[in-house]
This record gives sequence, C-alpha cells and structure tokens, in this order.
Amino acid sequence: MTELPRTASTVVVGGGIVGVAAAYFLADRGEQDVLLIERDRLGSGTSAGGLGGIRHQFANELDVRLSVLSTAFWREFDAFTGGSHAFEERGYLFLADSEGGLASLREPLSLYERCGVPVRMLSRIEIADLVPGMRADDLAGGRFCALDGYGDPLDAVAGFAAAAVLEGARVVEGVEVAALVREGDRVTGVRTRDGDVSAGRVLVATGAWTAPLTATASVHVPIWGYARSIMEAGPYPSLSRTPMVIELESGFHFRPKGAMQRFAMPNLSTDGGIEKGPAGPPEVFGGPVGRPAVPASLEPWVRARAAWRHPAFADVRIARSWSCYYEMTPDDHPVVGRVPEVEGLYIAAGFSGHGFMHAPATGQLVVEEMLDGSASTLDISDLSLERFSTGRRPFAPAVL
Ligand SMILES: Cc1cc2nc3c(=O)[nH]c(=O)nc-3n(C[C@H](O)[C@H](O)[C@H](O)COP(=O)(O)OP(=O)(O)OC[C@H]3O[C@@H](n4cnc5c(N)ncnc54)[C@H](O)[C@@H]3O)c2cc1C
Repeated sequence: MTELPRTASTVVVGGGIVGVAAAYFLADRGEQDVLLIERDRLGSGTSAGGLGGIRHQFANELDVRLSVLSTAFWREFDAFTGGSHAFEERGYLFLADSEGGLASLREPLSLYERCGVPVRMLSRIEIADLVPGMRADDLAGGRFCALDGYGDPLDAVAGFAAAAVLEGARVVEGVEVAALVREGDRVTGVRTRDGDVSAGRVLVATGAWTAPLTATASVHVPIWGYARSIMEAGPYPSLSRTPMVIELESGFHFRPKGAMQRFAMPNLSTDGGIEKGPAGPPEVFGGPVGRPAVPASLEPWVRARAAWRHPAFADVRIARSWSCYYEMTPDDHPVVGRVPEVEGLYIAAGFSGHGFMHAPATGQLVVEEMLDGSASTLDISDLSLERFSTGRRPFAPAVL
C-alpha cells in the first residue's frame, strides 16, 4: 500500500466513481502529484451498490448534455483507460400505465431533439417487441432511447483508478480524512490520523458523507444520505439482452446482469405508499453511519410487481439484496465546482441516483474548473453550491 505522502498538488478525497474519475482526468491532463485518499476500499461507498444505469432521458437540459458527454466517454472507456466496464447500449424503456404518465413522458421530447438524442414514444405493440413476453396490455405507452444502457460501476472504478495510477496519480486506501485544513480564505490541505497532507487544491468527492467533512472548513453543503435497495434474482437467460425497464408510476425497474436480473424499487411508507425520495432535508447533516438494512416490506412488493410485469418472474426467488445511500440534495442535483468562499476547495458530490452515469463528464468538467479556472466543455455554473444560498433553483427535482 502507498504510504501517505506529506504534500500533493491536489488531494481528491473519496474513492468512489466520482473521485477516481476526477483523479483520472487530473492525471490525464498532466497534473503532477495528484493524491486520492479513500478511507475504506475504492468503490466501497454508494458506487458499490448502484444499478449501473446510463440514460439520456432526463427532464433538465444540463442533465441530458452531461449524459451526451459521459456516454461518448463510456463508449470508448476501454480505449481511454485500458479497463472495461461492461457497457451495454441496450436502451432505457420507460413504461406509463396512465394517460397522465404518458403525457409526462412526452413532455421532454423537444428537449431531446434539441440535444440531438434520439428518443421515441412507443405503442404497446412496440413495447412488447422490445421485451419479449412482457405484459403490455395494461400500459398507456412508453418511451425509449436506444443510446441508453447499463454498465458495471465497480469495473469502472477499477478502470479509472488503474489508469490514473498509470498516469502518475497516487492512491491511498484505508485512511480517513478527518478534516479539511483551512487557513483564512483558502484550503491548505487535509488532516488524517496519519498526519496532515498539504495541498494547493482539495476536491471533496465523498458522496453522502460530504456535509460533515466540509463542515470542518465551515462550509455548509446540503447533502444527505437516503437509503434505496436493489435485489437480484435468476437466472433468466432469455432476458439477458433486454433494455433497462422502468415503470414510471411505480418506480419498479429491472435490468439484466449477465443471466441474472437486478430489480430496483422505491421505498414503501408504513401505509404501503410509494416513496421514491425523502420528504425533505434532515435537520442535521451528519453523514450516514453503517450500511442500511433492506426493509422487509420490499421483497413481497417486488415479487408482486415483477410477476405482474413479466410471466418469467412469476415465482421470483431473491438471491441477493442490498441497500445503499443515494446522495441527496434539495433539488436532486449535485454540487460540482469551486467553493466560492474558500480558495482551492472544490466539491463533486450529491448525485441523487445518477452519479455513476455522469462520472466521466463530472470528472472532466470539475478538472477543467480546477486547472483552467472554469469548465469550458459545458457550462456547469448551475451546479454551483451558491444556488442553495441565493435561492435560485435552476432544476426541477426528480428522483426515479
Ligand atoms: C440503489 C441505488 C441505485 C443506483 N442506480 C444508479 C444507476 O442506475 N445509475 C447511476 O448513474 N447511478 C446510480 N446510483 C447512484 C450512484 O451509485 C451514485 O450517485 C454514485 O456511485 C456516487 O459516487 P460517488 O463517488 O459520488 O460516491 P461514493 O461511491 O459513495 O464514494 C464516496 C467515497 O468517499 C469515501 N469517503 C467518505 N468520507 C471520507 C473521508 N472523510 N475520508 C476519505 N474517504 C471518505 C467513501 O468511503 C466512499 O468510497 C444508484 C444509487 C443507489 C443507492
């Protein structure tokens, strides 16, 4: 294991998909002495638990543009990093079972056209063709983008990290950053139990655990953890090449992972209602502790939903299940960029369920801001931390 150096040009805190992507782009841009510090193992946070979906079908323009930029990178991931993340461009298929749901699927079509992303509405017959055997007679219709798909987040973490190290970055695992070191209006490094590391720049990429860390530099960042779950069942070899399927109204999703199927689902309230996201921010932004349990009420709901949607799932036996934390913000969008009042301090965190798919764009753009003064490939000023203090709300919140 690499020993903790005492100085670095840039410290990246957090070795999830966002931190390793940023370390890769820093090293790739020729930045010397980049150090990534991860308190556990690389990919051990939320990145270990995601569904790996990659989609363009968002309601906000910046999200769509981040997807276009990211997907171009995901397609060439092997060429850029020498790693592989099992990207399969099989599309995302949204299903609506009500006329209201169908209307909301139609709403962003002009946005997709403006961004050059081919998205089309589907009839029940077209839906049934895409996923053979799937029940479609209860549906009002669907929406599909063939450029969407899914990959493997942990393979991607490994690929980015290995490429960053090959380009000269150092990675230290098993060391927690206890505090940011701030002197007046600038950050000068980080503090760990193994000593301080001085650095000209610090990027905080600590996902759901960002708020307590930035608080050590008196910076309030409204990010908190919200547990969501995934279940795996199978094998279902005949469904191994299907799109990611998402029921808009219920929030039930499924995708193949090899011959298995992975199911994602909303939370259920005590009266059985569907809860896709939290009602609002907590009073204290402490950072979640430990791994959340999978609520017992979810398995019967998933079994029933899956059996309704596809006869192949008539008797689903759940082989594995786990929960981990969405990194929420008040508008379900991340904080990416500099912290205005602390020179040298940057944040890339709070992706609320889409941090994997947008990691390449996030890494590239936050590194542009760090090295060039501002991001030039896309304007990311709407993702600035300042939006929460000015009250400006550039995004319509949306959690799938
Ligand atoms: C159920 C579920 C399904 C999802 N499905 C998808 C999907 O289909 N597509 C998609 O794009 N996204 C999905 N996501 C979201 C995605 O997984 C996350 O947005 C993404 O992994 C966040 O990456 P990250 O690097 O910001 O955070 P993390 O992966 O959590 O990484 C943060 C890292 O920081 C480390 N850390 C924290 N504090 C410190 C400290 N003080 N010192 C040192 N290290 C520290 C942690 O150990 C951790 O490794 C899903 C999430 C969940 C929960």
